[in-house]
Amino acid sequence: MRLIFLGAPGSGKGTQAQKLVKDFKIVQLSTGDMLRAAVAAKTEIGLKAKAVMESGMLVADEIMIGIIRDRIKEPDCVNGYLLDGFPRTDVQAEKLDELLNERGEKIDAVIHLVVDEKMLTQRITGRRVHLPSGRAYHLEFNPPKVSGKDDITGEELTHRKDDTAETVQERLEAYRNQTKPLVDYYTKKGILKEVDAIGEIDEIYTRVKAAVSQ
Ligand code: AMP
Repeated sequence: MRLIFLGAPGSGKGTQAQKLVKDFKIVQLSTGDMLRAAVAAKTEIGLKAKAVMESGMLVADEIMIGIIRDRIKEPDCVNGYLLDGFPRTDVQAEKLDELLNERGEKIDAVIHLVVDEKMLTQRITGRRVHLPSGRAYHLEFNPPKVSGKDDITGEELTHRKDDTAETVQERLEAYRNQTKPLVDYYTKKGILKEVDAIGEIDEIYTRVKAAVSQ
């Protein structure tokens, strides 16, 4: 099974993805997590991506396509994967189709997590993350058991540099202009499924699972 999660920053892609991959025994391919790891490791890609990410804009298509092209060839992807945060532009979506065609593969479903824009800023600015695992919390809506610490490892949580009120506006604009058009792209292909992503995490997850199993 190959899936895509489409949704604005703060729509809960990462949180829902972690639940889904565990249940369906597929791998989560989060391009945001991969880029943050590259930044932390100061790789060539990380050095190029750092400033762009901090500004809230999108990293160049060629870089992103290169990352995904290599990643989907890895042996752990044979049972399927969930693309979380990719594609984010029409060029990325078209390139992904090409890559999959070459491999005789296809995307089974695109899950669009729908959240009213007004709620996103609050969701993003209150977010705290455990960088090594990508686990996300929210100060108010989903607090960790111990303030500032990851529930599983007890390690420190981080407030992402791009999760600030100023950068959020730039990220939402990038979503509106560059990523949202993909809703049409996948609707035309007949594989888009809309999920109301407002409510309790488990409640939303029930909807996500129903959409995937449709
Ligand atoms: P995320 O964790 O998905 O919110 O991604 C954080 C940042 O990484 C984004 O604001 C972009 O700067 C960059 N990024 C992640 N995925 C992509 C992508 N598919 N295309 C371009 N930039 C991306």
